Amino acid sequence: MTLPRKGFAGRVVAWQKTHGRHDLPWQNTRDPYRVWLSEVMLQQTQVATVIDYFERFVSRYPDVHGLAAASVDDVMGLWSGLGYYSRARNLHRCAVLVVERWGGAFPRDADALATLPGIGRSTAAAIASLCFGARVAILDANVRRVVTRVLGFDADLALQSNLQQLWDEATALLPRRDLQQAMPRYTQGMMDLGATVCLPRQPACDQCPVQLQCEAREQGDPQAFPVRTRKLRRSAQSVWLLWMRRDADAVWLQRRPSPGVWAGLHCMPSFDSREALEAQVAPAYRGALRDQPAFKHVLTHKDLHLHPVQIDLPRKARPSGEGQWFDAETWPQLGLPAPVRRLLGQP
Ligand code: SF4
Repeated sequence: MTLPRKGFAGRVVAWQKTHGRHDLPWQNTRDPYRVWLSEVMLQQTQVATVIDYFERFVSRYPDVHGLAAASVDDVMGLWSGLGYYSRARNLHRCAVLVVERWGGAFPRDADALATLPGIGRSTAAAIASLCFGARVAILDANVRRVVTRVLGFDADLALQSNLQQLWDEATALLPRRDLQQAMPRYTQGMMDLGATVCLPRQPACDQCPVQLQCEAREQGDPQAFPVRTRKLRRSAQSVWLLWMRRDADAVWLQRRPSPGVWAGLHCMPSFDSREALEAQVAPAYRGALRDQPAFKHVLTHKDLHLHPVQIDLPRKARPSGEGQWFDAETWPQLGLPAPVRRLLGQP
Protein backbone atom coordinates (compact mmCIF):
# COMPACT_ATOMS: atom_id res chain seq x y z
CA MET A 1 0.00 0.00 0.00
CA THR A 2 1.32 3.47 -0.85
CA LEU A 3 1.14 5.97 1.97
CA PRO A 4 -0.66 9.26 1.18
CA ARG A 5 1.58 12.14 0.13
CA LYS A 6 -0.90 14.92 0.88
CA GLY A 7 0.54 17.54 3.20
CA PHE A 8 4.11 16.30 2.77
CA ALA A 9 5.58 19.60 1.54
CA GLY A 10 3.71 21.59 4.17
CA ARG A 11 5.14 19.41 6.95
CA VAL A 12 8.68 19.90 5.68
CA VAL A 13 8.13 23.67 5.45
CA ALA A 14 6.66 23.93 8.96
CA TRP A 15 9.40 21.74 10.43
CA GLN A 16 12.13 23.83 8.82
CA LYS A 17 10.75 26.95 10.48
CA THR A 18 10.93 25.47 13.96
CA HIS A 19 13.59 22.75 13.80
CA GLY A 20 15.73 23.46 10.76
CA ARG A 21 19.12 25.14 10.61
CA HIS A 22 19.07 28.93 10.49
CA ASP A 23 22.51 30.04 11.58
CA LEU A 24 24.83 29.00 8.79
CA PRO A 25 26.62 31.98 7.23
CA TRP A 26 25.06 31.38 3.79
CA GLN A 27 21.51 31.24 5.14
CA ASN A 28 18.98 34.04 5.62
CA THR A 29 19.88 35.44 2.25
CA ARG A 30 18.54 35.25 -1.25
CA ASP A 31 21.80 36.44 -2.72
CA PRO A 32 22.59 33.88 -5.45
CA TYR A 33 26.31 34.60 -5.20
CA ARG A 34 26.47 33.44 -1.58
CA VAL A 35 24.10 30.52 -2.16
CA TRP A 36 26.06 29.38 -5.21
CA LEU A 37 29.40 29.66 -3.40
CA SER A 38 28.15 27.63 -0.44
CA GLU A 39 26.51 25.00 -2.65
CA VAL A 40 29.71 24.45 -4.62
CA MET A 41 31.80 24.26 -1.44
CA LEU A 42 29.33 21.83 0.14
CA GLN A 43 29.30 19.48 -2.85
CA GLN A 44 31.83 17.08 -1.34
CA THR A 45 32.68 18.72 1.96
CA GLN A 46 31.19 18.81 5.46
CA VAL A 47 29.45 21.94 6.71
CA ALA A 48 31.92 22.40 9.60
CA THR A 49 34.85 22.58 7.17
CA VAL A 50 33.08 24.83 4.70
CA ILE A 51 32.18 27.61 7.18
CA ASP A 52 35.73 29.03 7.46
CA TYR A 53 36.39 28.82 3.74
CA PHE A 54 33.08 30.44 2.92
CA GLU A 55 33.77 33.36 5.22
CA ARG A 56 37.27 33.84 3.82
CA PHE A 57 35.93 33.80 0.25
CA VAL A 58 33.17 36.34 0.81
CA SER A 59 35.50 38.60 2.72
CA ARG A 60 38.11 38.51 -0.10
CA TYR A 61 35.54 38.50 -2.94
CA PRO A 62 32.29 40.05 -1.65
CA ASP A 63 30.49 39.57 -4.97
CA VAL A 64 30.71 37.77 -8.27
CA HIS A 65 32.52 40.74 -9.90
CA GLY A 66 35.31 40.50 -7.32
CA LEU A 67 35.69 36.77 -7.87
CA ALA A 68 35.66 37.11 -11.65
CA ALA A 69 38.38 39.76 -11.49
CA ALA A 70 40.65 37.62 -9.28
CA SER A 71 43.46 35.52 -10.73
CA VAL A 72 42.96 31.75 -10.89
CA ASP A 73 46.06 31.33 -8.72
CA ASP A 74 44.60 33.55 -6.03
CA VAL A 75 41.35 31.57 -6.05
CA MET A 76 43.21 28.24 -5.96
CA GLY A 77 45.34 29.53 -3.08
CA LEU A 78 42.29 30.45 -1.05
CA TRP A 79 40.68 27.10 -1.89
CA SER A 80 43.74 25.10 -0.81
CA GLY A 81 42.85 22.33 1.61
CA LEU A 82 39.20 22.11 0.59
CA GLY A 83 39.96 19.38 -1.98
CA TYR A 84 38.35 18.53 -5.33
CA TYR A 85 40.17 21.40 -6.97
CA SER A 86 38.21 21.26 -10.21
CA ARG A 87 35.48 22.96 -8.16
CA ALA A 88 37.74 26.00 -7.62
CA ARG A 89 38.65 26.24 -11.29
CA ASN A 90 34.98 25.95 -12.27
CA LEU A 91 34.03 28.49 -9.63
CA HIS A 92 36.29 31.05 -11.22
CA ARG A 93 35.21 30.21 -14.80
CA CYS A 94 31.58 30.42 -13.73
CA ALA A 95 32.08 33.83 -12.11
CA VAL A 96 33.72 35.12 -15.30
CA LEU A 97 30.81 33.83 -17.43
CA VAL A 98 28.14 35.29 -15.13
CA VAL A 99 29.83 38.68 -15.43
CA GLU A 100 30.44 38.44 -19.18
CA ARG A 101 27.09 36.96 -20.20
CA TRP A 102 24.69 38.36 -17.62
CA GLY A 103 26.44 41.47 -16.34
CA GLY A 104 26.98 39.84 -12.94
CA ALA A 105 23.35 38.78 -12.31
CA PHE A 106 22.91 35.01 -12.00
CA PRO A 107 20.17 33.62 -14.25
CA ARG A 108 16.96 32.82 -12.34
CA ASP A 109 16.11 29.71 -14.28
CA ALA A 110 17.49 26.30 -13.20
CA ASP A 111 18.06 25.13 -16.79
CA ALA A 112 20.13 28.23 -17.58
CA LEU A 113 22.07 27.89 -14.32
CA ALA A 114 22.86 24.26 -15.15
CA THR A 115 24.71 25.36 -18.30
CA LEU A 116 27.37 27.08 -16.15
CA PRO A 117 30.64 25.33 -15.21
CA GLY A 118 30.50 23.37 -11.97
CA ILE A 119 26.72 23.75 -11.59
CA GLY A 120 24.95 20.41 -11.91
CA ARG A 121 21.23 19.85 -11.93
CA SER A 122 20.86 19.72 -8.15
CA THR A 123 23.02 22.80 -7.48
CA ALA A 124 21.11 24.71 -10.16
CA ALA A 125 17.83 23.73 -8.51
CA ALA A 126 19.14 24.75 -5.09
CA ILE A 127 20.05 28.24 -6.33
CA ALA A 128 16.83 28.70 -8.30
CA SER A 129 14.57 27.52 -5.48
CA LEU A 130 16.40 29.15 -2.54
CA CYS A 131 16.93 32.51 -4.25
CA PHE A 132 14.07 32.83 -6.74
CA GLY A 133 11.35 30.49 -5.42
CA ALA A 134 11.49 28.26 -8.53
CA ARG A 135 9.55 25.00 -8.26
CA VAL A 136 12.43 22.61 -8.92
CA ALA A 137 13.68 19.64 -6.91
CA ILE A 138 17.17 19.18 -5.52
CA LEU A 139 18.63 15.70 -5.22
CA ASP A 140 22.02 15.89 -3.60
CA ALA A 141 23.16 12.82 -1.67
CA ASN A 142 21.38 13.80 1.55
CA VAL A 143 18.11 14.64 -0.13
CA ARG A 144 18.29 11.54 -2.30
CA ARG A 145 18.39 9.52 0.88
CA VAL A 146 15.33 11.26 2.34
CA VAL A 147 13.31 10.98 -0.87
CA THR A 148 14.11 7.31 -1.57
CA ARG A 149 13.18 6.44 2.00
CA VAL A 150 9.95 8.41 2.00
CA LEU A 151 8.90 6.86 -1.30
CA GLY A 152 10.32 3.40 -0.59
CA PHE A 153 12.09 3.86 -3.92
CA ASP A 154 14.12 0.67 -4.27
CA ALA A 155 15.25 0.87 -7.90
CA ASP A 156 19.02 0.96 -8.46
CA LEU A 157 20.17 4.57 -8.77
CA ALA A 158 23.26 3.45 -10.66
CA LEU A 159 20.88 3.34 -13.67
CA GLN A 160 20.21 6.71 -15.24
CA SER A 161 16.59 5.83 -16.06
CA ASN A 162 15.87 5.10 -12.38
CA LEU A 163 17.53 8.32 -11.33
CA GLN A 164 15.37 10.22 -13.80
CA GLN A 165 12.27 8.58 -12.33
CA LEU A 166 13.38 9.68 -8.87
CA TRP A 167 13.73 13.29 -10.11
CA ASP A 168 10.17 13.09 -11.43
CA GLU A 169 8.85 11.73 -8.16
CA ALA A 170 10.83 14.28 -6.13
CA THR A 171 9.29 17.02 -8.28
CA ALA A 172 5.78 15.70 -7.58
CA LEU A 173 6.43 16.15 -3.83
CA LEU A 174 7.26 19.88 -4.11
CA PRO A 175 4.99 22.64 -2.76
CA ARG A 176 2.35 23.87 -5.21
CA ARG A 177 1.26 27.14 -3.62
CA ASP A 178 2.91 30.32 -2.38
CA LEU A 179 6.12 29.25 -4.08
CA GLN A 180 8.13 32.40 -3.31
CA GLN A 181 7.90 31.64 0.41
CA ALA A 182 7.43 27.88 0.35
CA MET A 183 10.16 26.79 -2.06
CA PRO A 184 13.17 28.26 -0.22
CA ARG A 185 11.85 26.86 3.04
CA TYR A 186 11.09 23.45 1.54
CA THR A 187 14.49 23.10 -0.17
CA GLN A 188 16.28 24.11 3.02
CA GLY A 189 14.02 21.76 5.01
CA MET A 190 14.90 18.76 2.82
CA MET A 191 18.59 19.57 3.17
CA ASP A 192 18.24 19.91 6.93
CA LEU A 193 16.26 16.68 7.25
CA GLY A 194 18.99 14.79 5.39
CA ALA A 195 21.77 16.40 7.41
CA THR A 196 20.29 16.20 10.90
CA VAL A 197 17.46 13.62 11.08
CA CYS A 198 17.40 11.17 8.20
CA LEU A 199 21.01 10.13 8.72
CA PRO A 200 22.67 7.35 6.73
CA ARG A 201 22.88 5.15 9.83
CA GLN A 202 20.30 5.28 12.59
CA PRO A 203 17.89 7.88 11.22
CA ALA A 204 15.95 9.59 14.02
CA CYS A 205 12.54 8.61 12.65
CA ASP A 206 10.74 9.50 15.87
CA GLN A 207 11.82 13.14 15.37
CA CYS A 208 10.96 13.23 11.70
CA PRO A 209 8.07 15.45 10.55
CA VAL A 210 7.15 13.05 7.73
CA GLN A 211 7.43 9.79 9.65
CA LEU A 212 3.78 8.89 9.05
CA GLN A 213 4.28 9.26 5.29
CA CYS A 214 7.53 7.34 5.08
CA GLU A 215 7.49 3.95 3.33
CA ALA A 216 10.95 2.98 4.60
CA ARG A 217 9.94 3.54 8.19
CA GLU A 218 6.74 1.60 7.59
CA GLN A 219 8.79 -1.27 6.17
CA GLY A 220 11.09 -1.12 9.19
CA ASP A 221 14.43 -0.80 7.40
CA PRO A 222 15.27 2.77 6.34
CA GLN A 223 18.93 1.88 5.90
CA ALA A 224 18.03 -0.29 2.93
CA PHE A 225 17.62 2.99 0.98
CA PRO A 226 18.92 4.35 -1.30
CA VAL A 227 19.83 1.38 -3.48
CA ARG A 228 22.93 1.84 -5.55
CA THR A 229 24.98 -1.09 -6.74
CA ARG A 230 27.98 0.53 -8.31
CA LYS A 231 30.83 0.53 -5.85
CA LEU A 232 33.81 2.85 -5.87
CA ARG A 233 36.88 0.97 -6.90
CA ARG A 234 39.80 2.20 -4.86
CA SER A 235 43.33 2.00 -6.04
CA ALA A 236 46.72 2.82 -4.57
CA GLN A 237 49.66 4.72 -6.01
CA SER A 238 53.15 5.41 -4.72
CA VAL A 239 54.60 8.83 -5.49
CA TRP A 240 58.11 10.11 -4.78
CA LEU A 241 58.33 13.88 -4.23
CA LEU A 242 61.58 15.68 -4.94
CA TRP A 243 61.69 18.36 -2.27
CA MET A 244 64.42 20.75 -3.40
CA ARG A 245 65.34 23.65 -1.14
CA ARG A 246 67.67 26.59 -1.54
CA ASP A 247 68.79 29.27 0.89
CA ALA A 248 66.93 27.42 3.65
CA ASP A 249 63.50 28.82 2.81
CA ALA A 250 63.03 28.61 -0.98
CA VAL A 251 61.41 25.56 -2.51
CA TRP A 252 61.16 24.37 -6.13
CA LEU A 253 57.58 23.83 -7.22
CA GLN A 254 55.90 23.13 -10.52
CA ARG A 255 52.31 23.34 -11.63
CA ARG A 256 50.58 19.95 -11.95
CA PRO A 257 49.20 19.02 -15.36
CA SER A 258 45.47 19.00 -16.02
CA PRO A 259 43.64 16.62 -15.97
CA GLY A 260 45.08 14.43 -13.24
CA VAL A 261 45.54 14.30 -9.49
CA TRP A 262 45.88 17.85 -8.05
CA ALA A 263 45.47 19.37 -11.53
CA GLY A 264 46.55 23.01 -11.68
CA LEU A 265 48.00 23.06 -8.16
CA HIS A 266 51.67 23.60 -7.36
CA CYS A 267 53.68 20.65 -6.12
CA MET A 268 57.21 19.35 -5.89
CA PRO A 269 58.30 17.36 -8.98
CA SER A 270 56.81 13.87 -8.58
CA PHE A 271 57.95 10.46 -9.80
CA ASP A 272 56.73 6.89 -9.93
CA SER A 273 59.89 5.49 -8.35
CA ARG A 274 62.93 6.45 -6.27
CA GLU A 275 65.12 5.62 -9.29
CA ALA A 276 63.24 8.03 -11.55
CA LEU A 277 63.55 10.75 -8.91
CA GLU A 278 67.29 10.15 -8.58
CA ALA A 279 67.76 10.33 -12.33
CA GLN A 280 66.39 13.88 -12.22
CA VAL A 281 69.15 15.02 -9.87
CA ALA A 282 72.64 15.83 -11.21
CA PRO A 283 75.07 13.02 -10.21
CA ALA A 284 77.19 15.44 -8.15
CA TYR A 285 74.27 16.11 -5.79
CA ARG A 286 72.69 12.65 -5.48
CA GLY A 287 74.61 11.80 -2.30
CA ALA A 288 72.83 14.68 -0.56
CA LEU A 289 69.32 13.23 -1.03
CA ARG A 290 67.60 12.56 2.30
CA ASP A 291 64.54 10.29 2.54
CA GLN A 292 61.83 11.72 4.77
CA PRO A 293 59.15 9.58 6.47
CA ALA A 294 56.62 8.27 3.93
CA PHE A 295 52.92 8.78 4.63
CA LYS A 296 49.52 7.98 3.18
CA HIS A 297 47.15 10.57 1.76
CA VAL A 298 43.60 9.43 1.04
CA LEU A 299 41.77 10.70 -2.06
CA THR A 300 38.23 9.69 -3.00
CA HIS A 301 39.19 6.90 -5.37
CA LYS A 302 42.78 6.35 -4.45
CA ASP A 303 45.31 6.04 -1.62
CA LEU A 304 48.48 7.97 -2.36
CA HIS A 305 51.62 6.72 -0.61
CA LEU A 306 53.87 9.77 -0.59
CA HIS A 307 57.65 9.50 -0.22
CA PRO A 308 59.28 12.91 0.19
CA VAL A 309 62.99 13.05 -0.60
CA GLN A 310 64.68 16.25 0.47
CA ILE A 311 67.80 17.95 -0.82
CA ASP A 312 69.41 21.32 -0.09
CA LEU A 313 70.95 22.75 -3.24
CA PRO A 314 73.58 25.44 -3.58
CA ARG A 315 72.58 28.77 -5.09
CA LYS A 316 74.18 28.04 -8.47
CA ALA A 317 72.25 24.80 -8.99
CA ARG A 318 69.43 25.07 -11.53
CA PRO A 319 67.02 22.11 -11.40
CA SER A 320 66.10 20.70 -14.78
CA GLY A 321 62.48 20.40 -15.85
CA GLU A 322 59.55 22.71 -15.29
CA GLY A 323 59.13 24.83 -12.21
CA GLN A 324 60.60 27.71 -10.29
CA TRP A 325 61.86 28.73 -6.86
CA PHE A 326 59.30 30.13 -4.43
CA ASP A 327 60.45 31.71 -1.19
CA ALA A 328 58.69 31.51 2.18
CA GLU A 329 56.76 34.69 1.38
CA THR A 330 55.25 33.39 -1.84
CA TRP A 331 54.67 29.66 -1.60
CA PRO A 332 51.96 29.93 1.10
CA GLN A 333 49.90 32.04 -1.38
CA LEU A 334 49.89 29.31 -4.03
CA GLY A 335 47.25 26.65 -4.55
CA LEU A 336 48.90 23.62 -2.95
CA PRO A 337 47.62 20.10 -2.25
CA ALA A 338 46.96 19.77 1.50
CA PRO A 339 49.74 17.21 2.18
CA VAL A 340 52.28 19.37 0.31
CA ARG A 341 51.28 22.44 2.32
CA ARG A 342 51.69 20.41 5.52
CA LEU A 343 55.11 19.15 4.47
CA LEU A 344 56.38 22.60 3.53
CA GLY A 345 55.08 24.05 6.78
CA GLN A 346 57.25 21.70 8.81
CA PRO A 347 60.20 23.38 10.54
FE1 SF4 B 1 14.10 9.30 7.15
FE2 SF4 B 1 12.94 8.04 9.17
FE3 SF4 B 1 12.05 10.40 8.33
FE4 SF4 B 1 11.72 8.23 6.85
S1 SF4 B 1 10.84 8.60 8.87
S2 SF4 B 1 12.36 10.23 6.14
S3 SF4 B 1 13.59 7.13 7.25
S4 SF4 B 1 14.03 9.98 9.25
